[in-house]
Amino acid sequence: MPLINPKITHLSTLYSPTLKEDPVDAEIASHRLLLRAAMMRRISSGIYAFLPLGYRVLRKIEQIIREEMDAIGCQELLMPILQPAELWHESGRWDVYGPELMRLTDRHENCYALGPTHEELITALTRNELRSYKELPLSLYHMHWKYRDEVRPRFGLLRGREFLMKDAYSFHASQECLQEHYDAQAQAYGRICHRLGLVWRGVEADSGQIGGQTSVEFMALAQTGEAGILYCDCGFAANVEVANAQVALKSHAVAFEKVATPNTEAIADVAAYLKVNEASCVKALCGRDGQDRTTILFVPGNHELSETKAANLLGSFTLLDDEEIKKAGLVKGYLGPVGLSKDVQVYADASLKELPQWICGANEEGYHYVGATLGTDFEITQWAELIEAREGDGCPACGKALTAARGIEVGQVFQLGTKYSEAMQARYMDEDNAEKPFVMGCYGWGVTRSLAAVVEQHYDEQGIIWPVSVCPAEVVVIPLAAGDELVEPAALSLAEDLCAAGIEVAFDDRAERAGVKFNDADLIGWPYQLIVGKRGLESGVVEFKERATGERQEIPLDTVAATVAKMVQDARVGKE
Ligand code: ATP
Ligand code: MG
Repeated sequence: MPLINPKITHLSTLYSPTLKEDPVDAEIASHRLLLRAAMMRRISSGIYAFLPLGYRVLRKIEQIIREEMDAIGCQELLMPILQPAELWHESGRWDVYGPELMRLTDRHENCYALGPTHEELITALTRNELRSYKELPLSLYHMHWKYRDEVRPRFGLLRGREFLMKDAYSFHASQECLQEHYDAQAQAYGRICHRLGLVWRGVEADSGQIGGQTSVEFMALAQTGEAGILYCDCGFAANVEVANAQVALKSHAVAFEKVATPNTEAIADVAAYLKVNEASCVKALCGRDGQDRTTILFVPGNHELSETKAANLLGSFTLLDDEEIKKAGLVKGYLGPVGLSKDVQVYADASLKELPQWICGANEEGYHYVGATLGTDFEITQWAELIEAREGDGCPACGKALTAARGIEVGQVFQLGTKYSEAMQARYMDEDNAEKPFVMGCYGWGVTRSLAAVVEQHYDEQGIIWPVSVCPAEVVVIPLAAGDELVEPAALSLAEDLCAAGIEVAFDDRAERAGVKFNDADLIGWPYQLIVGKRGLESGVVEFKERATGERQEIPLDTVAATVAKMVQDARVGKE
């Protein structure tokens, strides 16, 4: 191995096998570019190894998260990945988590889970030793690999089966105290997004498998994001899974009448047949709830049912198939509230309160009612928010039209309340000498996912454009004539000057053509390039290129180190 300055990244010895061609199975930019720029390699479905440069970026992201957690008094520890099944039985999640939970058995037939999240473990860890109100509040976090056997691992780091998460858990004696720390966590998450250079939005969210009531997701905005978001200028923003909205419906004012509507099982067909707007019709979904009760949900004809809202309301909601509908004595495609069997449970979407007259199924093959009047021809006793809101619907806060966007969920904060502390009997002694369950919060951040999200927002045709805050090194010095007696030493001396000024420097001392070096520099995405050529040196200048803008300038050789160091330092501060 040649003698090298350990503070400088010498590309001649760096393990960084960049790829000229796009990998065939990479569908989105971050996946494609992280592979091409040799930041990572795929080991198996949803499982990746980080190569030296990618690992550097990952550690910088970890460090930003660590600083923000430490700043709000959250203490770092490290918990195991392997979690005994008993803990999951205690919380009840061993049975409900489903096939996403990776389970294994040891040689003594003991069962374990590979942690997908750590609520059980942290609760078990603290419950016997965190005993008094005087020790509260307490907030703890760790950064560790998580395992989820996702149905569809895809998009590289965005949806992996093994991924790095920062997860924090807090313990409180009151809801007010939880709220205070929850707000501090949410603010820290905003700062993390900012420092990673992400364009983001905090949105109201469903709390899913983790549980609890109040939750916000942090979304990095990107067309490739898997999450749908609805937002309004007034500040309202929510995941489409849970967004409520004001829906404009069109009451079709006619006399109550049963009309023949042959072959009109779908709403579009009914509306076309009767020459009315779909917003005048009511759609029925027939399913089974969490307690196995036949349940019909009515929603406006121009909207879809939100599966998340239905599942939250009913424990679960599974659509019946044709056979099951028939067996329940119901008529598929022609379900309506008029004369409906009392044996079925009925809910209607809250927006339908504003539709005085419904066009709905007549519970008879080939017939619908028109002009069915709520309160006269039928009653609805249970109302709920059921529809998936969409762009153009009215904002629930101010009524203005909602705008749609897509996002990558990089983090989520939850108020758990006493869900885990009650199930796992984690109690403390309060001031009044009474034992009470902890009020808990938890705060997850996808470290590897956010690395990919940064790339989704920072790339161009040529490659990645790392924000200075997380780049593998800030400046790459590129000598144009490898081995040249004049150029190479001059370039190395520049690299050393920059390094001495506290700048992170990479030095492209590979015996490659200039074109190869330029392409790799753009692909890897170092924020700044210093190009040292023979002709420039003879006239006393070095070329400087900013990767993000493509702007080039010539800087006099004698001031170049100071000038570049200053620019990089300013860019660092700008991102903080
Ligand atoms: P998703 O809805 O995308 O499946 P989630 O809501 O189930 O994610 P959480 O339980 O909130 O995920 O986990 C906290 C964070 O961990 C998420 O905000 C996300 O950044 C990250 N994360 C979750 N699942 C994955 C995954 N399969 N691959 C990479 N990161 C993930
Ligand atoms: Mg989440």
